[in-house]
Amino acid sequence: MITGKERFQRFLGGIVFDRAYKYIKKDPSGNIVKLIDFGQKLMGSNFPVKNYDAFRNAVRDPENVWNKFALSVIRECDGDYLKKMLLALGIGAGINGTKTVRANREKYKCNIPFLILFDPTSACNMKCKGCWSAEYGHKSNLSLDEMRSIVSQGTKLGTHVYMLTGGEPLIRKDDIFTLCEENPNCMFLCYTNATLIDDAFCLKMKELGNLTVAVSIEGNEQSNDERRGSGAYSKSMAAIDLLRSHGLIFGISVCYTSENIPYVTSDEFMDLMVDKGVRFAFYFNYMPVGKSAVPSLIPKPDQRAFMYLWLKKVRNSKTGKPLFFMDFQDDAEYVGGCIAGGRNYFHINSEGDMEPCVFIHFADSNIRKNTLLEGLKNPLFMAYYHNQPFNDNHLRPCPMLENPEYIKKIIADTKAASTDLVEKESAEELAAKTEKFAEEWAPVADKLWKENRHPNPKTQYYRDTPEAKSHK
Ligand code: SF4
Repeated sequence: MITGKERFQRFLGGIVFDRAYKYIKKDPSGNIVKLIDFGQKLMGSNFPVKNYDAFRNAVRDPENVWNKFALSVIRECDGDYLKKMLLALGIGAGINGTKTVRANREKYKCNIPFLILFDPTSACNMKCKGCWSAEYGHKSNLSLDEMRSIVSQGTKLGTHVYMLTGGEPLIRKDDIFTLCEENPNCMFLCYTNATLIDDAFCLKMKELGNLTVAVSIEGNEQSNDERRGSGAYSKSMAAIDLLRSHGLIFGISVCYTSENIPYVTSDEFMDLMVDKGVRFAFYFNYMPVGKSAVPSLIPKPDQRAFMYLWLKKVRNSKTGKPLFFMDFQDDAEYVGGCIAGGRNYFHINSEGDMEPCVFIHFADSNIRKNTLLEGLKNPLFMAYYHNQPFNDNHLRPCPMLENPEYIKKIIADTKAASTDLVEKESAEELAAKTEKFAEEWAPVADKLWKENRHPNPKTQYYRDTPEAKSHK
């Protein structure tokens, strides 16, 4: 629910956006430079002069990847949709959310997340290879009131970003629209197979402004349909074309495996996504979760090293692609390691279990019995709080994939129960599937870590309370 103060902030923010947007639209490159000049006069020495110069140079260079990205968004996306999204992200999550999250971290001495991922349903209308949803023997759901409660408790804690997965979340699209309508100060993102996206869905997305989607896709038609089933690729492409025709901001989500890395990192794939108007690409390392997982699909150490260096290349302002890339494994250095256990996020499954991460199917709290804050303060999430980061080398961030000794210890210490909806799995069984990879990856990751420059930890959005910093 939105407060009076937020309503006023959004009103003012809307006026500023409308004026700036109209001005920029007249002459994008020229007027962005003028706005930077104006910002420099206004903000004075708050930021180094070289930052303003770097922005100006980027805008003046037609070949700069980020310039191309910004201009294409301004040219092709719906202005009103863009405004509502920026208000939710900028004022809701950015200004008010960040402040509240930080204050609550200090107040409660536990992790408070920036985003919460939850599953409206375990039901899915597809059966992708290696996806645990495909194996669910029964279907379970969070009720609309339970989802409302997650968002209302979350916003009080400062959390203003909600990602929805499943199952296929769009099976519950009407309830998702209700959540978006009731919470214009929050941003919602659905990971979807896109089969339920039609004209009416796009029109509603445009009207709401605080909803986006990440379409699951894995390379070209052959590599995609190999895992997701015949015809999946063409359906995803049709949905992407529709989203673009409505001027929406949307992205893709890619699970990379030892088998599909050449496809999902190819120029052909990325250029096609850019041409199709995709704005962001979220990459996920395959995780061998569940008893039917296929450990041989975990990318090999040389493939992980390739992914790390590939990311640097595709984000480079000269050699990259005009697309916002994020890799949830190899980008850990930007957020100080593992973000789970509520440090930046946690997951709630369709049975209400509060899991530290979408890939860690264990819990000692459930939203049907506990408040979110109780769950964050219960032993499992506190074990994350006290042990993060799990490794000083952020190329080895995960307590399951790269440091499996941690997942065994945490589960043994906290007595958290398996929440796997198909077949219970012990921490030992889970760790047994990653130990070989962890051992082989360690020397490669350590060498890569030494050879490359890393972001300044002071700029990382995490763990900024003095109390938290004292825990190593
Ligand atoms: S538990 Fe592993 S997969 Fe989940 S956020 Fe942490 S590092 Fe990433």
